[in-house]
Amino acid sequence: MKFIYTMILYLSLCWGFTWQFSGRTHPELNWTTMETEHFRVHFHQGIEDIAKEGASISEQVRPTLLQQMGLDDIPIIDIIFTTEDEIMNGFAMHTYTTFIWVDQNEAAVWLEDEKWLYQVVAHELQHIVFSHKINTWLPEPWESLYSDTPGWVWEGLAEYETERWRPHRADISHKYHVLKNNMDKMDAHHDGYSKLLYWSDRFGDSTIVSTFTDRNKLGLFNFEKAFKKHTGVEVKQFNEDWRRHMNTYYYGYRSQKEPLDEIGEVVSLPIKKLDSFAFSSDSSKIALLGKDDKNQWDRSLIIAVRDTAKERERLEKQLKEDEKTKFDFFTKLIGDEEKEEKKKKNSRYYGIKKRLTMDIFITPVNI
Ligand SMILES: [Zn+2]
Repeated sequence: MKFIYTMILYLSLCWGFTWQFSGRTHPELNWTTMETEHFRVHFHQGIEDIAKEGASISEQVRPTLLQQMGLDDIPIIDIIFTTEDEIMNGFAMHTYTTFIWVDQNEAAVWLEDEKWLYQVVAHELQHIVFSHKINTWLPEPWESLYSDTPGWVWEGLAEYETERWRPHRADISHKYHVLKNNMDKMDAHHDGYSKLLYWSDRFGDSTIVSTFTDRNKLGLFNFEKAFKKHTGVEVKQFNEDWRRHMNTYYYGYRSQKEPLDEIGEVVSLPIKKLDSFAFSSDSSKIALLGKDDKNQWDRSLIIAVRDTAKERERLEKQLKEDEKTKFDFFTKLIGDEEKEEKKKKNSRYYGIKKRLTMDIFITPVNI
């Protein structure tokens, strides 16, 4: 019984639908299909021009995507373009089908100078080309289970073949995870990109294609075995080498920078996860944009108000403690650095928070 439930869950994951992202269906949309030489493009009213542009991009990137994977041909691909619920995403399936949300340029600032339509179409089509590349006679879901290709390979490959390395993809994320010492918890889109760059740099990028071309005696593809055969290194060892390499790079980079306290006073702001902040002109308030709960998906605008009564309370407590240790021989001799630090941190206290809005919604980037 457990097996049947697992299978139902797995199959439902294999066949994704756009309503799964928002919980909404859209009976008001009328769908039309446009056929090009290698694609069937499905779209609803209001986005005909975008669909035409998307179809053109698809035909233009197709030869490059095939060439990169050493393929000559691929079956006709169905592309579904939609604007429903304004979700900044897209997903591809092994059935040579991709669902793509369009009309997102204004929100997709992380693309920097790239355009959403080009980026998302090339990315999702690369997933389909890759899926075709590692396709064998074994039907799904058995094939995915047998090949056991990690998420970082899927996403990293799509980025390596269609994008360029930049702050939001994924330099900033690397800096953060290296410093936090949790590189094993990175999003597959982030560690995947640098792992593919590292793979190509260390073993040559022809080993990427030869790994995915590999089939065992049964004609099946298994990522770990193929990777070992074509690079000479176990995936586990590769991940560890990558971790060391990235840590060396980012700590080397950090060592060339001035320490933060040389630039100014370091303070902790009263919020769990901060995107940006600004002081009011008299410094009595801070406007904070971010999340006050780790599990919150949206962003809040929070106003933190300076609490001078609390500051006085802290200062008095500090003075009393100073008085107590005044004649302590060792403190006199070596100073009390910890206390000095504390004093600095406590100089201003912003505590009374007011959450102004709950619906600044930023869709997580996950194409
Ligand atoms: Zn992707």
